[in-house]
Amino acid sequence: MPQANAKLNAFPVFMRVEGEAVAIVGGGEAALAKARLVGQSSAVLRIIAQTAEAELLSFIAATGAVHVAAAYEAAHLEGATIVFAASGDEALDRRVVEDARRLSIPVNAVDRPELCDFFTPALVNRAPVAIAIGTEGAGPVLAQMLRGRIDRMLSPSLGALATLAASFRGTAERLPKGTGRRRFWRDFFAGAPARAVEAGEFARAHDAAVELLVSDAPASGHIALVGAGPGAEDLLTLRAHRLLMEADVIVHDALVPEAIVAMGRRDAERLPVGKRKGCHSKSQEEINALLVELGREGKRVVRLKSGDPLVFGRAGEEMAALRDAGIAYEVVPGVTAAFAAAADFELPLTLRGVSSSLVFTTGHDLKGNSLPDWAKLAISGATVAVYMGRSVAAEVAGRLIEAGLSPDTAVAVVENASLGNRRRFHGTLADLPSLEARADLAGPVMTIIGDAVAGANFERSEPLAAHRHEDTASATAEGVEQ
Ligand code: SAH
Repeated sequence: MPQANAKLNAFPVFMRVEGEAVAIVGGGEAALAKARLVGQSSAVLRIIAQTAEAELLSFIAATGAVHVAAAYEAAHLEGATIVFAASGDEALDRRVVEDARRLSIPVNAVDRPELCDFFTPALVNRAPVAIAIGTEGAGPVLAQMLRGRIDRMLSPSLGALATLAASFRGTAERLPKGTGRRRFWRDFFAGAPARAVEAGEFARAHDAAVELLVSDAPASGHIALVGAGPGAEDLLTLRAHRLLMEADVIVHDALVPEAIVAMGRRDAERLPVGKRKGCHSKSQEEINALLVELGREGKRVVRLKSGDPLVFGRAGEEMAALRDAGIAYEVVPGVTAAFAAAADFELPLTLRGVSSSLVFTTGHDLKGNSLPDWAKLAISGATVAVYMGRSVAAEVAGRLIEAGLSPDTAVAVVENASLGNRRRFHGTLADLPSLEARADLAGPVMTIIGDAVAGANFERSEPLAAHRHEDTASATAEGVEQ
């Protein structure tokens, strides 16, 4: 909320410039910057510069802007809708400002706010949608920062969606004014048409919009299976962030940090569905049924899973349930824990001449006598990333050694990869069983095994086997981390 006494001294408006002349006086960098900005519109640029720098000349050549290659005179401004004084020469810029005012043309003088009739905004351009950010000349850096933030929030296909919307304006007028029409537009911008445009499927978007017009059925729901990444908030993808902000309901696993769940709309419903080892708050069948039910209610749901949703995330079962129920869904990839752990260790998962394949596996299929299929790969040099491997560390090590992998093979372990409280351990396959006994590791743990691990940076890691003085060891480690 603005403070009661905070009034804008510059009021934003959008000016029609299609086919109109915009005059820019100047031949250097400032003139080029303005030319580039105004060049995002369909105005006809008129650049008045007796001499122009090479870059400006090539801009003129590339865009077909009009170049008046003569010493400036007031007549050059005639017929322009707006004028920029961007010569960099104070006396000349003042003259341009005076001439423009005499001709009643609004004028902007670069870097001289006191001479400006208007300010140019930092611009987020999703034509025909534009977001202009102004700070009344107080903070161009601030404006650029805001621009970046807003730009990331908005789908790259927003312009295409707005164009499609414009083509439905007339037809939508036939809907009853008020709720009916509002609902159509809400479902248009947030529902199936928007999703189809996002996917680059314009014909389908058109059909979906027609369907919305003719059908009385409530908008169909949509489930996004979204990877939340390994834990650090800023390892979330921009797409995941955008979907989170649009979701009506967020269904999340226990491993997804609160800070990420909190990124959704304030009024979004948040449903934790648990699944920490040993305390499943909902069975997978119950989760599948919940997603189907929410989809049937027409909700836009983000199903947040840690890491990547397609890696040990049971997304397969959820997708099958949604497919069977005819509910639309999409998958948004995330940074999987193995990648985050490798990054924390500066560990090359593939290493030229050492390891050219990568196995994502879990320790939990080791029951029984048969050797897991990936053991052969490990022996032939693959790097192995073990998910959910802590409680079966001894089993994993034992079976791999039994299968012929050297007990000296390097092993890296990361608890809470990507997070501020992460801990790193290094050792060999022979040390790995000690992991099971550690009571001091409460977070999720990733184990990476293979010769490529030897290429990691062990500077900030603790030896895996030396955990006899657990309390001191963990205190020191935390000291290092923070
Ligand atoms: N879909 C997730 C994996 C879910 S299985 C992904 O792609 O990462 C859960 C296992 O992932 C944990 O037992 C642990 O082995 C691993 N894991 C998840 N987050 C982790 C983190 N921040 N640090 C280390 N391991 C992690």
